Amino acid sequence: LKAGGAYVPLDPAFPTDRLAHMLSDSQMTVLVAQQALLSILPAHQAQVVCLDTDAAIISQANNQNPSSDVATEHLAYVIYTSGSTGKPKGVQILQGAVTNFLSSMQLQPGLNAQDILLAITTISFDIAVLELYLPLLIGAQVVLASRAVVADGIKLTQLLETSQATFMQATPATWQLLLAAGWSGQGKSSLKILCGGEALSPQLAAELAPKVASLWNMYGPTEATVWATIYEVKAADLLSASQRSAISVGQPIANTQTYILDPFLQPVPVGVKGELYIGGVQLAKGYLNRPDLTTEKFIPNPFSDQPDSRLYRTGDLARYLPTGDIEYIGRIDNQVKIRGYRIELGEIEVVLATHPAVRQNAVLVREDLPGDKRLVAYLVPNEQAHFTVKDLRDFLSQTLPSYMIPSAFVMLAALPLTPNGKIDRRSLPVPTIDRSQSATSFTEPRNPLEESIAQIWRQVLGIDQISIHDNFFEVGGNSLLAVQFLTKLGNTLDQNLPLVTFLNAQTIEQLALVLQGQEKSITSSWSPLVPIQTVGEKPPLFLVHAIWGNVLFYRKLAHYLKPDQPVYGLQAQGIDGESDPLISISKMAANYIKEIQKIQPQGPYYLGGFSFGAEVAFEIAQQLLTQGHKTSLLAILDATAPNSLQSETLAIQAETSRNWQKQYFQDLVKLTWPERANYFLGKMQWHFTIGKLGIFYRSYLQHIKRSLPDLYLLQVHFANHQASNGYKASVYPGHVHLFRCPGDLSEKGVDLGWGKLALDGVTISQIPGSHTTIMEEPLVKDLAEKLAHFLPKI
Ligand code: AMP
Repeated sequence: LKAGGAYVPLDPAFPTDRLAHMLSDSQMTVLVAQQALLSILPAHQAQVVCLDTDAAIISQANNQNPSSDVATEHLAYVIYTSGSTGKPKGVQILQGAVTNFLSSMQLQPGLNAQDILLAITTISFDIAVLELYLPLLIGAQVVLASRAVVADGIKLTQLLETSQATFMQATPATWQLLLAAGWSGQGKSSLKILCGGEALSPQLAAELAPKVASLWNMYGPTEATVWATIYEVKAADLLSASQRSAISVGQPIANTQTYILDPFLQPVPVGVKGELYIGGVQLAKGYLNRPDLTTEKFIPNPFSDQPDSRLYRTGDLARYLPTGDIEYIGRIDNQVKIRGYRIELGEIEVVLATHPAVRQNAVLVREDLPGDKRLVAYLVPNEQAHFTVKDLRDFLSQTLPSYMIPSAFVMLAALPLTPNGKIDRRSLPVPTIDRSQSATSFTEPRNPLEESIAQIWRQVLGIDQISIHDNFFEVGGNSLLAVQFLTKLGNTLDQNLPLVTFLNAQTIEQLALVLQGQEKSITSSWSPLVPIQTVGEKPPLFLVHAIWGNVLFYRKLAHYLKPDQPVYGLQAQGIDGESDPLISISKMAANYIKEIQKIQPQGPYYLGGFSFGAEVAFEIAQQLLTQGHKTSLLAILDATAPNSLQSETLAIQAETSRNWQKQYFQDLVKLTWPERANYFLGKMQWHFTIGKLGIFYRSYLQHIKRSLPDLYLLQVHFANHQASNGYKASVYPGHVHLFRCPGDLSEKGVDLGWGKLALDGVTISQIPGSHTTIMEEPLVKDLAEKLAHFLPKI
């Protein structure tokens, strides 16, 4: 840049084919690298400068500022981004665009010479332009985070704290990673944070905003130089976070115009959806060597008299809010974002289509588990093709970066089509483990009973094609959907099955057998103790139910432990509706100990509990100790310590939270009436279902909806909630093992408050993910592996 040249960032982690395309497409003349990287580069014509081995020569060079004739219309950089035709495309950004962008950012969000900016983005993405040049331009300090640190939420949290950063920019995925790693913000710090590259959800905003001085939502495509519109999140945006669908992306920055237009390039009225177009000095020159695509995406500006004025059609769907701010709604095409990476699904499809075994394919982004966006490839294989999923992955990795490799491959006999012959992407099935390997093991329901069950599965799971051998939990089912299934089953067939039936019967075939009474369900007589895995001679692991009272979700965890590790669940009284739920943790613990001792009369015991279950497991260990029994493992699975003890940090956080509440109320006054109504509706909904006033809802479930399993779960949830509120934990003269993946549970510090309760200390194992995903595939496998270290070896 100083010499007046334009740069093209190359990421050494990219596959050689991709680098080769970038090198030849850009015809670069000088390559700046390090010696160790030269061997991985494809053949090229450029003159190489190695910053390490050529350091001596470089140090001899003139260190005065060169005078270059560079002007605003010269190229500053070319950044390659995913291209739908199978090859990445180079976006050409001009010097004038970059200087406009930097001067605008200097004013808002604003940076000054005293700031310390923690830069975490690789220079392959344009958002690094802000992180590197803005502080350098202003005289602020930049702290560079290495790639290894950025990938590790815990390390990044530490760096954010030790660097004393006052400014940081990241994608929503990285902010989520920090929260999951227990980043609790910096109290009353002056940290200004920018979130961009993907939609900022109101929920994420509500978690981030109270931790920082200010939070900005930044929107923009690479083609309009980093950010085109910005928005500072306000307390009022968070008041009704649960009812809002989006945080606004705000208004255009300096010398930038936005238009929301219909297909005839007419502006749409406020509130009406249209495609977002961007104009102004930050528009790219176009795509390198792609005049066709440049003409398609950069169109003459119908609203300007200037002959060369253009608009960039973003492909983003948006609308104007009455405030003049823009709300981002989604994409018009097949471009997606995963963990902040921009991906054209078409690019993956084109590469996949060149594999000899693939006849037809479609690639989708699915979010079957909330917050878990992943790429899924659907393919119709050529007849007689022999290949494995690994072959496909290896093949794609030769051309595509790792973030573009699908995480699941589903083989189909044919791709579903819409009436007009296009691929019907909406009806592509949830990936299943079995069907991803072969297309053959599909068996249609064989009798009316199986058909009725299949019919309910289809409704509950939202899948069209179900084989009677499909496992409920592998085709997208979870314990809440299992409850829905049982409710519908009760209403349709007038047959009630307990939830734990699912422990032994997880396919349509098995459920039909249970219903026909041909196979005895071990769970027909109710007991708190639920055998999950009974094979093996080792001391069993006893796992206590969470707030909803059932233990079905431990099935996956047990599956990934050693096959000879017995596992028993302890389910809540009242879950079958036969008796009232307990509202005291010490009573629960006493009951469960009686059950545990039927299986294992003497210690040492292995105990665990997820979330609320951890509190009960903790109390069980206490009571066992008073009986003279040792507990070898007390596994706390992602739970904060009971609320009996306060720490100074808690006091500080309570103050921050009080300040926020004050702010909330001040803002509440400023809200419009519909917004206030929305806010209170959300609160009421909680009170009227799970909260104290849930009595009416429960009566509705019982008498009108006749959804008994739902009703019992709700009653148990309510009782457990009361039990937890009333529990006063005392100090335990033992040790606890905390398996944490804290997400929003991180208020009490790294040990989630257990250190104050466990005299012999806390061992912490980190599990990736969040509280809602830790017990689900694929993360539950990690948890099982880490838990297995502390289970008996013989
Ligand atoms: P990129 O060129 O990688 O910056 O990706 C640009 C695209 O990312 C935009 O066209 C949007 O689809 C999406 N995007 C960027 N920032 C935001 C944001 N703050 N909210 C929603 N979508 C965004």
